[in-house]
Amino acid sequence: SADDIRFLLDEAEQWIEFNRRPRKQDGRLVGLTQINAFFENSTRTLVSFELAGKRLGAQVVNFSAATSSVKKGESLKDTALTLNAMRPDVLVIRHDANGAALQVAELMDCPVINAGDGSGEHPTQALLDVLTIRRRFGRIEGLKVAICGDIRHSRVAGSNMRSLPLLGAEVRLIGPPSLLPDLAPDGIGLFEDFDEGIAGADVVMMLRIQHERMEAGLSGTLGDYFGRYGLSRARLDRAAPGAVVMHPGPMNRGVEIDGELADDPERSAILEQVEMGVALRIACLDVVTRPARGG
Ligand code: ASP
Repeated sequence: SADDIRFLLDEAEQWIEFNRRPRKQDGRLVGLTQINAFFENSTRTLVSFELAGKRLGAQVVNFSAATSSVKKGESLKDTALTLNAMRPDVLVIRHDANGAALQVAELMDCPVINAGDGSGEHPTQALLDVLTIRRRFGRIEGLKVAICGDIRHSRVAGSNMRSLPLLGAEVRLIGPPSLLPDLAPDGIGLFEDFDEGIAGADVVMMLRIQHERMEAGLSGTLGDYFGRYGLSRARLDRAAPGAVVMHPGPMNRGVEIDGELADDPERSAILEQVEMGVALRIACLDVVTRPARGG
């Protein structure tokens, strides 16, 4: 709910200064075990969840599917039951199947955090995105947010198109027809023309093409992608003055975004998103483990 989101954003705000200190140590998760089970590659999400747990004092174990018995044919269910038998206090999971986190949560005795499930949801990314936007503008309500790229396969778009309208933002989805959803949720505009969709936007969120989730052959039909859907300075001029550029990463410079624009700290909040990700994930770990800590 909007109140749950605001609560987590307020909790995350309290960790931003903490993360900027030379020594970042808080003991509230000492003695607790956090397992990060990643069945898909990750840089930002995995490292920030690991740092978040360690900064709170948890014992953090990273489980990577590439080097596990998943490679020997073990199912998601058996992997979850095995991890559960080791009595972790929190599990963070990323998986390529939609609904995997929910399926695993039903088998585990501890809280489970979804770190991305297929093309479904990526809730902590959407939360760190709204935190970044709220800090830049001081509000979410009334802002126009244009999300451009491979909306159909993006879990980041999936979670943002739910959270932003809850907080009162107007969301527009932009992309080639083959990468847009068939139906837009109520109140959300679909645009094939980037120049039209970006007009007057306060935030422009760029997404990478999710080749790994595409039907064979679709990538080859996208033509001059940068020309039609790449974010350049000229295109950004059509957005609202001072519009902020975001990207969840990993970005492909020259494909969906101009590299020099991505590096401009006046316009780009991309590294701020990464910084907010650590604070937000500390807040999530703190909040979900409160019952186990008797809080
Ligand atoms: N890192 C984000 C995700 O895991 C975005 C992406 O991969 O394009 O969904």
